[in-house]
Amino acid sequence: MDSVEVAAAPDAGPGPAWQSKCPWGAHNTTSMSCSLADVMSEQLAKELQLEEENAAFPEVVAVAEGPFITGENIDTSSDLMLAQMLQMEFDREYDAQLRREEKKINGDSKVSISFENYRKVHPYDSDSSEDEVDWQDTRHDPYRADKPTTTPRKGFIGKGKDITTKHDEVVCGRKNTARMENFAPEFQVGDGIGMDLKLSNQVFNALKQHAYSEERRSARLHEKKEHSTAEKAVDPKTRLLMYKMVNSGMLETITGCVSTGKESVVFHAYGGNATEDKVIPPECAIKVFKTTLNEFKNRDKYIKDDYRFKDRFSKLNPRKIIRMWAEKEMHNLTRMQNAGIPCPQVVILKKHVLVMSFIGQDQVPAPKLKDVTLSSEDMKKAYYQVLNMMQQLYKECNLVHADLSEYNMLWHDGKVWLIDVSQSVEPTHPHGLEFLFRDCRNVAQFFQKAGVAEALNERELFNAVSGLNITADNEVDFQAEIEALEKMNEDHVQNHGKKLSVFSGDGDPPIYAE
Ligand code: ADP
Ligand code: MG
Repeated sequence: MDSVEVAAAPDAGPGPAWQSKCPWGAHNTTSMSCSLADVMSEQLAKELQLEEENAAFPEVVAVAEGPFITGENIDTSSDLMLAQMLQMEFDREYDAQLRREEKKINGDSKVSISFENYRKVHPYDSDSSEDEVDWQDTRHDPYRADKPTTTPRKGFIGKGKDITTKHDEVVCGRKNTARMENFAPEFQVGDGIGMDLKLSNQVFNALKQHAYSEERRSARLHEKKEHSTAEKAVDPKTRLLMYKMVNSGMLETITGCVSTGKESVVFHAYGGNATEDKVIPPECAIKVFKTTLNEFKNRDKYIKDDYRFKDRFSKLNPRKIIRMWAEKEMHNLTRMQNAGIPCPQVVILKKHVLVMSFIGQDQVPAPKLKDVTLSSEDMKKAYYQVLNMMQQLYKECNLVHADLSEYNMLWHDGKVWLIDVSQSVEPTHPHGLEFLFRDCRNVAQFFQKAGVAEALNERELFNAVSGLNITADNEVDFQAEIEALEKMNEDHVQNHGKKLSVFSGDGDPPIYAE
């Protein structure tokens, strides 16, 4: 496969951060005295998470918006990159000029001529920074469940003469106007702030259709370009993003590709200079989520039924959905980091490119659990560690990995590290418990085959992780009970707008130790 040719950093500058500070122990953990109840409280966990995120990435905006092209230390060794950068600048200027001319010609005329087709940068493909929706805008972790809104079953509110039904024209009109906000950001609907706009259903539906067909048109136009991602490891825009990271000094060099999967390509890089309060690990992994659309189709099941995503998902264009996966991986890794689970530490997220600490050494990634030969003692140790991590993930992070197997566990420094968490969901996801059961089956089978006599079977493991007490003694009945529980939870959410308490793991899972 192709490795990315991203040139070395311009000049050495002050030595890399790891010479002065230990990057792995970068957090200043101030010890707080508090009770066990406090430690387990969701509120505290949220506060800590916010605090840590703020402390860990306060500089990102500066990095993301810092001058790139105007920098004095542009690396001239990458002619291709320079040419691409100049071309993008040129295209943008060309389009700005075109807009001015369009305005001049049309003036105040009621009939206007559009120059749209002559533009170099198509509005939906625009890569300008205004269009960037980066994680710093969503630092509050949007993947935490919001309270779902419920419509009253009866379909009306009020009493007697004051009854207002859901078909009321004014109510509908206002609702439609509010729903316009859900169109893709590029879709220009004007600004109705301060006005009491009421869009009829007919107008709203026509607008909606138009928005969809515009999105499809744009997708078709750029399909060819997008497909190049699959052919060469990353597309030019992604290469440019990575180049910017090197150019800004955050990374020293990108050495090459570590893995090409169906959904992502992972690169190794040497960390660059630390900023005032951000330490860059000496070695980094860059996970590029593939922008080819087809690969993500099979991921639909993770979000399609999830009420948290329903609104967001259907309104986004595919490129944004892919960024959402990257964003999700970052938030999930941060939750895990806060719980002390060994996992990569997030460095930065730019669009669909996630930079994190590299698990491994000297460009060699740590082996997957499936590839490593462990002594029976280490294997047993690994088993208990995985069991505890699964419990922590469920209980403290409120997450189910959903792709846990010996392929996504690395063996490094005498312990197991969890990776690949973009698809992880909360246990109350409509299929969350099924995903957990699948994880348990993978883990149980792997360790049983590896000869760990103490390894629980998948059903015992499921109960041990979730704290639930499903008693069925065969797999079919067990799964039926899981599905019944999920259904009960869904009904509960629909009817009462909140989850069942049994899902929040109120029953403490038993503690297992070696
Ligand atoms: P995918 O969704 O493609 O499976 P993963 O996150 O599992 O993506 O990454 C693919 C491979 O890249 C992993 O199996 C591992 O070998 C390597 N890898 C990913 N992240 C890291 C990391 N932080 N450190 C070292 N290697 C990594
Ligand atoms: Mg993987």
